[in-house]
Order: sequence, then C-alpha cells, then structure tokens
Amino acid sequence: TSRVGVLALQGDFREHLAVLRGLAADAVPVRRPEELEAVEGLVIPGGESSVMDKLSRAFGLADPLKAAIASGMPVYGTCAGLIMLADRIVDGIAGQQSLGGLDVAVRRNAFGSQVDSFETDLDIPAVGQEPMHAVFIRAPIVEEVGEAATVLARVPDGRVVAVEQGNLLGTSFHPEITGDTRFHEYFLRRVRAA
Ligand code: GLN
Repeated sequence: TSRVGVLALQGDFREHLAVLRGLAADAVPVRRPEELEAVEGLVIPGGESSVMDKLSRAFGLADPLKAAIASGMPVYGTCAGLIMLADRIVDGIAGQQSLGGLDVAVRRNAFGSQVDSFETDLDIPAVGQEPMHAVFIRAPIVEEVGEAATVLARVPDGRVVAVEQGNLLGTSFHPEITGDTRFHEYFLRRVRAA
C-alpha cells in the first residue's frame, strides 16, 4: 500500500483520512516537512484557504509543498485545497498566496451569499459513468482554465468545478463527506502509478 498524506494544518483533514483509510491506504496527517517527505501523495483538504496559506508559511511547509508539487508528487485539493493549488486567486484576502501548480484562476466563495452551500449531481466521465452527488460549501469556482489544465466537471450552468493537470487534481466540492469515494480512488491510482 502507498503511504499518502493529508495536509492537517486546518480544515476537514480528518474526513479525508477516514476515506483514504477506508480504501486501505496508509493515510497520515502532514504538519511538518519531515512528514511530507515520508508520503507519496498528498490531499489538501477543505477549510479556509487564507488560514491554510498563513499556517503553511508559518510552519515552514509552503516551500516544501511547492517543491513536492514541482517534483511530480500527486496532490488532490478539495475546495480550499483547490484554491491552494491554483496559480491565480482572483479575490484572495490581502497578501494571500497559493502554492500554485494548476494553470487556473479561482474565485473564492464564488457562488454568492444566497447559495453559499448547495448540492447537485455532476457528470464526471473521468471517474465513472454514474453521476456524482457533489456538496459545495462556500465553494470556489474555476474562472479561467489555462492551456495546461483539463476540465473534469462543470455544474449544470457550465461553470468549472473540477480540473486536473499532470500530477494535480482539484475539486470545488467535497467528496470526502458524501460517501462517494471515486475521486479518492482516482487519486490513489495516480499515486500508485507515480
Ligand atoms: N471559502 C473557503 C476558502 O476561501 C473554502 C471553503 C471550503 O473549503 N469549504 O478557502
């Protein structure tokens, strides 16, 4: 089995650990550079990207994370984790940085106050035929998809909510809380292949 990490500075890392362990992965929390060095893939959870950004820099993890991304380590970001992986944040708080890697621009809290949180079914051919029930919680939208990135899913009005690029995978929604493990399985297959 592959050892995979979940960035555990902030956010819903426990849910990701539980899903990955349920899939028989050796999943461990990552809070320190030494812990990052010991894993073959990483999930960046949902939470608050501006806080995750500050903590990752304060704990000396931001540069090791960027290096891991550049080295080709498979990384999957959900919601705030997707924001962390985006090359461009359209409306971050002052000074907010991302790790980058995905050639996309994301807008935080993009679904507005009326529909802060909502659920819908998505067609995601990359992970299977059956539609995936997706939960969005103050979710970002991928506003621009650069040439290097591929769209995996859109909400019914056409806005992009899942992308991949090389070793990186990002979703605006939270498969870690719905019981549908297909995205985590997709990620684990990439880890095994890497
Ligand atoms: N709104 C959060 C952010 O900007 C993301 C929300 C989430 O991860 N559920 O980081």
